[in-house]
Amino acid sequence: MSQKGRWSYRLIPSLKDWLARVHGEVNFFSTQLLSGHGCFRSYPHRFRHATSPKCAWCANGEDETAEHVLFRCGRFYIEREHLEAELGEQITVSNLVPMIIRRRENWEAFNKFAAIAMTDAAVIMHIMQRSCL
Ligand SMILES: [Zn+2]
Repeated sequence: MSQKGRWSYRLIPSLKDWLARVHGEVNFFSTQLLSGHGCFRSYPHRFRHATSPKCAWCANGEDETAEHVLFRCGRFYIEREHLEAELGEQITVSNLVPMIIRRRENWEAFNKFAAIAMTDAAVIMHIMQRSCL
């Protein structure tokens, strides 16, 4: 199984609950974070579009992956705080998806985070004259 396959598996612990959700249409931005396939430096790096898989913002040497952007990247600290305020707790790999499928408002807060985070990533990649879309 690919690394990105494992990512979705970790993020979506119960496929049954995921498929049974009554709201939560995935869009262009949220799909990238949930699947790990997206405009991440670590992802296009595999295709030699980016010079480095490391996050250009954080100086901790972490690769820019969906997991990094969602849970740790300092670039989205404020947006993450807003998301966590809406959800009522700190997000983790294991609680994020169960929380966002529980409540429509949670889902919408996640989509908002995804749109900001992934637009920003796309803009930065564009500035660097890399194509990832
Ligand atoms: Zn970062």
